[in-house]
Amino acid sequence: MIITIDKTAGFCPGVHRAIHKAEKELEQDNELFSYGSLLHNELEMQRLQNDGLRLAEKDDILLLNNKKLLIRAHGEPPETYMLAEKHGVELIDATCPVVTRLQQKVRRAAEEMKKVNGQILIFGKQNHPEVIGLAGNAMDLATIISSTEELHTLDLSRPVRLFSQTTMDKDHYNAFALSLGEEIKKYQSEPDFISYDSICDHVTKRVPALKRFAANADVIIFVSGNESSNGKKLFAICLEVNPKTYFISGPNELRTAWFEHVRSVGISGAASTPLWLMENVADKIKEMN
Ligand code: SF4
Repeated sequence: MIITIDKTAGFCPGVHRAIHKAEKELEQDNELFSYGSLLHNELEMQRLQNDGLRLAEKDDILLLNNKKLLIRAHGEPPETYMLAEKHGVELIDATCPVVTRLQQKVRRAAEEMKKVNGQILIFGKQNHPEVIGLAGNAMDLATIISSTEELHTLDLSRPVRLFSQTTMDKDHYNAFALSLGEEIKKYQSEPDFISYDSICDHVTKRVPALKRFAANADVIIFVSGNESSNGKKLFAICLEVNPKTYFISGPNELRTAWFEHVRSVGISGAASTPLWLMENVADKIKEMN
């Protein structure tokens, strides 16, 4: 049986960098705090927590005087930085550089929109940490939106700058931007509307690569934490291409029956799935056969 691990699976560069920063800090100091999980993978988080990573809630910042707090790849709004400074918390900033550039772009657009009574729209998920960070940079001008059904709630007679959460689906974003542009024409004779496609390249390239990978093996084992929305989305794509795709969060969930009369197995995973976990899954499959 040939077992192949998907080279394009696993941490995106932003998450990889955040974990590396956390590991480096934990080598020097056995305590480091982070707001929520660095990534949606229970086993990888467990590994980091065993090394001293502690999860903190937003209100805990008041109690972290002289402690280190890691900012995740998703980034944080400016108020978090101000609060940390006020309470003597040392920040280890692991915001993904792609997200940092986007936050700066949103801020510049918000400054421009402020002068003309305009608005910022963020195509993304309510309450997603990255979206909260982006909205926090928009000087109270941001509305978070995820579908054309919500357009009637907006005042489209005012100028609009549209951005996207970096992990949204590109086709959905493009369709949304098109509809929004058409709708704005009804309210503005000379539309003041710019759509910034701010979806991460890594996310965009991942789907076609995954489809190719899923089509080339008899069975696909998709490894992801149960909480990862990216994992659920990529699993559904794999399943569509290859009906013999199975979702597991760890090697113990593998079933012998999946590999009967199978010649090739592909192992893939979400952007939060560590390589070591996919390797463990590969080893377990070898043991089972
Ligand atoms: S912007 Fe891209 S590389 Fe950065 S954290 Fe998001 S998905 Fe990962």
